[in-house]
Amino acid sequence: MKFSPFESLSLPLKYTNMSSTKRSLNFIEHIIEEDLAKDYSKSSLRFRFPPEPNGYLHIGHASSICLNFGLGLRYSAPVNLRFDDTNPTKEEQEYVDAIKRDVEWLGFEWDKECYASDYFGQLYDWAEELIKQSKAYVDSQNAEAIAQQKGTPTEPGTASPFRDRTVEENLHLFREMKEGKYKEGEHVLRAKIDMSSSNMLMRDPIMYRILHKSHHRTKNDWCIYPMYDWTHGESDYIESISHSFCTLEFAMHRELYDWFLDQVVTPENLRPKQREFARRNFSHTVVSKRRLLQLVEQGVVSGWDDPRMPTISGLRRRGYTPMSIRNFADTIGIAKRDNVVDLSLLEFTVREDLNKTADRVHAVLDPLLLEITNYPEDQEEWIEAENNPEDENAGSRKVPFSKYLYIEKEDFKEEANRKFFRLKLDSEVRLKNGYIIKAVSCDKDADGNVTKVYCTYDPDTRSGSGSEASKRKVKGTLHWVSKTHAKSVKVRLYDRLFTDPTPDAHKDKDFMEFVNPNSFEEIEAFVEPSLMDAKVEDRFQFQRIGYFVVDKDSTSEQLVFNKTVGLRDTWAKLDS
Ligand code: ATP
Ligand code: MG
Repeated sequence: MKFSPFESLSLPLKYTNMSSTKRSLNFIEHIIEEDLAKDYSKSSLRFRFPPEPNGYLHIGHASSICLNFGLGLRYSAPVNLRFDDTNPTKEEQEYVDAIKRDVEWLGFEWDKECYASDYFGQLYDWAEELIKQSKAYVDSQNAEAIAQQKGTPTEPGTASPFRDRTVEENLHLFREMKEGKYKEGEHVLRAKIDMSSSNMLMRDPIMYRILHKSHHRTKNDWCIYPMYDWTHGESDYIESISHSFCTLEFAMHRELYDWFLDQVVTPENLRPKQREFARRNFSHTVVSKRRLLQLVEQGVVSGWDDPRMPTISGLRRRGYTPMSIRNFADTIGIAKRDNVVDLSLLEFTVREDLNKTADRVHAVLDPLLLEITNYPEDQEEWIEAENNPEDENAGSRKVPFSKYLYIEKEDFKEEANRKFFRLKLDSEVRLKNGYIIKAVSCDKDADGNVTKVYCTYDPDTRSGSGSEASKRKVKGTLHWVSKTHAKSVKVRLYDRLFTDPTPDAHKDKDFMEFVNPNSFEEIEAFVEPSLMDAKVEDRFQFQRIGYFVVDKDSTSEQLVFNKTVGLRDTWAKLDS
């Protein structure tokens, strides 16, 4: 199903503790309810979110985080943050730190911080047990030969010539592998299951490979590393996870997950259960750490937290709020089938949230000078302006007004039809929080571009003054800043990172071919002086333009803003 932002207008977007949300159960919750009705006690429920620290979390992970931690809230059950760190070639401490920061920022609390690498010793001992029971063997063929013997879904595989090694020989070789006596690729440990299974994953899967790589946590303690399938279920078991939710591509792995558990589970311990849900894909972006890493490494973006990236840290830097991401995940829910979700729904949820929380300010992105001819040259006024009409506790601030102002270039035309509710010669508009002005004339350069507008103002019409004249209605309201008081800032504007709605779904083309060459622009803009107190990550509504956030590249000399998202109805009614 594809969501349009308009369909979701009626959905309850306010995020509350999920246990108090009155929505129907999703299929994952049904599974848990059924288990509770059968043989699970509520206190036995325990979940985990298991990222591999090989990149930063993205908006797809947000679905999995909100699912697992949401279940934790709903059932008052602990949720572990488990780092699935079994591949030292791709994993780094930087990613561990970033993942923790992102989950915390989203507002979730994990019970235990766990690492699959903490279980390397236990996994090794269990592997020796399997060898002793003739359920695992050392294969000394190279990867190519092993792959060739795998067979096809319709043809059984061929047994390795090393399949029938004795227990002693296997134990000896496996111990030597662990001691570092062999080069990478010389041997692997395989489970001895069934070379003719209809499930290819059951055809003697690899449990261990040799990797002479230092691990970000265990350093050089190990030179054999367990594979994902061997590690994941056993880690769930060690942590007493009741339900292990993963994405659909692991559905075929479930049989193997269960086989590995069968080898170690004892009756007095809880047996974890793997269940699958659909991976989320999103329009006009890619969500695969491998691809995102490519964008970073090839310099297409400035880093993992580039505001165009669909990473949690990129969205954060772009100005998205934790609430908007959680609302988004809740709104799209959990699906059984893969599908593409329109990212405009995420824009919708952030607008919803920022509309309630962001202070309104005046900022002009494309300035045109305006002189109020009948305003005294040396006069200035500090006008009271409400910070957020949607939040009565937001208070107000004072905005300077003077004879020379900047307005947006596109807000003035010498002549225009009746539908142009902005400023044109001989007609009136209201300056937001200020006065009603009337345009009288303008200057133009040699190319005919307007360079300055001359207006008169009506001193009795100041907003909020209570006078009869101030209640007079005019069609248009413009934002503005006082030229002498305005502060210059940098504003970064972003467009979609890809020109194609599904950049990684083309068989004949690489997703990199669809990178939008015009997704970033930096301009100079002018803002009201109150913004000089703004700190990194403070979010604002630039009136009539959109939502903006202070970027970490800001210095004491110059603020840098990122545009989060535009206001949908840019020219909608603005009260005076
Ligand atoms: P990637 O391809 O981006 O590396 P992954 O699945 O390998 O994704 P993990 O770090 O293993 O990434 O993911 C942690 C958890 O998040 C897993 O349970 C995984 O299924 C889930 N997850 C990852 N991507 C998505 C997605 N697009 N939609 C829903 N869940 C996801
Ligand atoms: Mg992965």
